[in-house]
Amino acid sequence: MRRDIDIGGTKTAVAAVAPNGAVLAQRSAPSGRGPAEVTQEAARLARETVAAAGVPADAVGACMPGMVDPHSGVVRHAVNLDVDELDLAAGLAWELHLPVSVDNDVKAAALGAALHVGNGGTGGTLAYLNLGTGLAAAVVRDARVLRGPDGAVGEIGHLPVGSGIRCQCGQLGCLETLASGSAVARVWRPAPGQRADPLAAAAAGDADASRAADMLADGVAQALQLLAISVGPDRVVLGGGVAKAQGLAEAVRAAIARRAASSDFVASLRLDTRFEVLPAELPVASLGASLLPTR
Ligand SMILES: [Zn+2]
Repeated sequence: MRRDIDIGGTKTAVAAVAPNGAVLAQRSAPSGRGPAEVTQEAARLARETVAAAGVPADAVGACMPGMVDPHSGVVRHAVNLDVDELDLAAGLAWELHLPVSVDNDVKAAALGAALHVGNGGTGGTLAYLNLGTGLAAAVVRDARVLRGPDGAVGEIGHLPVGSGIRCQCGQLGCLETLASGSAVARVWRPAPGQRADPLAAAAAGDADASRAADMLADGVAQALQLLAISVGPDRVVLGGGVAKAQGLAEAVRAAIARRAASSDFVASLRLDTRFEVLPAELPVASLGASLLPTR
């Protein structure tokens, strides 16, 4: 049995997963802050989960935001967790006395998404587009995550597309300034107690939410086009907190149709038939962490 740890910007979730993929037990709690607390909180939850599952674990897969080197096990620049540098693999191995595999959370989620849509075998290309606070993608080809020499394959959120808005990465006009939770929050914020769903609020007649929803849908359409022409995915899967917005798939299809109406080239990409939104409850990052190759 494996323990699979998904350390997110707000919460850490652990699942005990049987060899057949069945989830035997799971636990979650707010993530720690800073390298020591992040590791200790993840290890504490992992021990609790194994106790609940009642079966000893033989390996650990863990994923978190930031630049994660799966070979060294070191995580850098996980700014939302106050982590500048952390040897996550060594820290968890010390706490849990087990071999530990680590990767970036979006890359792990892409593996989980590939498993979900049945693209985990060889021969296909799947892109996973994560709409969270930021915008990032990961590409699985022949059941492996593409990385490049610096692990930056899929960081499409930081391609400047001319929005004119300063991005947290330092550039002007990144795609992330249109298609992400932080982009939506710049244009529309839910009232106290209101669901943070710009599409639902737009449907209820909120003008700012409507502007945010149009910007988001068109930004996602641009992201799909960028993925289609750069990595040629058979399938693009949308996940992350913002992908849970009500009717997102329909809004994105409408944005694609507007783009395709004035361009035979865009129409020829058939973007509307190539993407799907993940079921909201599917824990793709944990699923993917269970598939990480042993270091
Ligand atoms: Zn940027």
